[in-house]
Amino acid sequence: FIKSTAASSIDGSINNTEDDEDVVDLAANSLLNKLIRQSLVESSHQVEVLQKDPSSPLYSVKTFEELRLKEELLKGIYSMGFNRPSKIQEMALPMMLAYPPQNLIAQSQSGTGKTAAFVLAMLSRVNTLELFPQCLCLAPTYELALQTGRVVEQMGKFCVDVQVMYAIRGNRLPRGTDVTKQIIIGTPGTVLDWCFKRKLIDLNKIRVFVLDEADVMIDTQGFSDQSIRIQRALSSECQMLLFSATFEDSVWQFAERIIPDPNVIKLRKEELTLNNIRQYYVLCENRKDKYQALCNIYGSITIGQAIIFCQTRQNAKWLTVEMTQDGHQVSLLSGELTVEQRAAIIQRFRDGKEKVLITTNVCARGIDVKQVTIVVNFDIPVKQREEPDYETYLHRIGRTGRFGKKGLAFNMIEVNKLPLLLKIQEHFNSNIKQLNPEDMDEIE
Ligand code: ADP
Repeated sequence: FIKSTAASSIDGSINNTEDDEDVVDLAANSLLNKLIRQSLVESSHQVEVLQKDPSSPLYSVKTFEELRLKEELLKGIYSMGFNRPSKIQEMALPMMLAYPPQNLIAQSQSGTGKTAAFVLAMLSRVNTLELFPQCLCLAPTYELALQTGRVVEQMGKFCVDVQVMYAIRGNRLPRGTDVTKQIIIGTPGTVLDWCFKRKLIDLNKIRVFVLDEADVMIDTQGFSDQSIRIQRALSSECQMLLFSATFEDSVWQFAERIIPDPNVIKLRKEELTLNNIRQYYVLCENRKDKYQALCNIYGSITIGQAIIFCQTRQNAKWLTVEMTQDGHQVSLLSGELTVEQRAAIIQRFRDGKEKVLITTNVCARGIDVKQVTIVVNFDIPVKQREEPDYETYLHRIGRTGRFGKKGLAFNMIEVNKLPLLLKIQEHFNSNIKQLNPEDMDEIE
């Protein structure tokens, strides 16, 4: 068995298995989304509701006042600039705040208001006169726990007697410490430790249990089991809430295992389409040739803002160096950067301070930068075994129909990869026109 290391391929690019970006880090993406989020993500779909008791009336609210919240909580909500409940909140909040408490499984894409909803539920159920943990929220990582904690602090700004504590690695409390904070946010491992080994939290007294980012959670080794062990020790009166941005079968199975008798709320995601996108390809011999072609169209792509996708980190880095040396201003967004650094770059791009972003698949999903009108696939997305990666192609180039500004997409393609492009064309039943890079007038 010979482990292949870096090897030069025909076009001179380096193939190194380690620099492939295909391992998308769900937790990092989720954090990135939170860091760059500026407002609610809208959906034109209706919220789907499945009640555990279909005969009970279904309430929805159009205002926060209808929820009869504590005055200081309402003040906190308005101070965050929320005027009215988001689509998912309209349905979820009445269920979450109902008496007797109801369990809930809710799924909607990131940015639709899930966190704000469960933070509201936790804050409204805290009894400030009681000084022990009453609400427990599990998050997949330290950073995500802190993000949720920030929302608790903002929304609970006027609830002066409510306090938050983080059960995360590094937050060391001696055994037997009297934890007086009412809301605990933490990662499954540490929470388990605090509950069973250190006896800092009495799970029997928890009134609201939240499992956030279930899809990220089950993706992390051991977290499902740990979460289930925690859930088993909760009292039967405890309200249990689970949230997820996606809902594959595995998430669903986990959700049903951990949340007894749930109501279910789903909000479908706006679908991506290639309808408004004019797609072109430029046939090239090798990487150098692709680079030349890119330079030839560079003038046209920098009329707007552009994202250039490469398949590997190495290629992205190479391209960035080449372009910079040729005097083009580009910035590189790759998985080597910390999430905070990535967020800063995306922000600069959004603010128009950067016009061209070179990236790998870290940026292909989830992160929507609406003003991008031009996308270049410097490498077209492929799966192992040289199959096109249709989904990634769609995520890189597609737009939601609703916000569908017209877009342009360019594919730089080596002759030997042309069959892949034709497959993509066929798959999406769309027309990808050949372009002669010396004659840009062909672009309509
Ligand atoms: P999710 O948990 O689904 O990713 P969040 O609760 O983090 O969504 O909400 C996404 C963004 O929208 C955040 O910036 C949040 O402050 C904001 N937001 C949430 N609810 C509302 C609302 N009702 N009105 C306005 N903005 C809201």
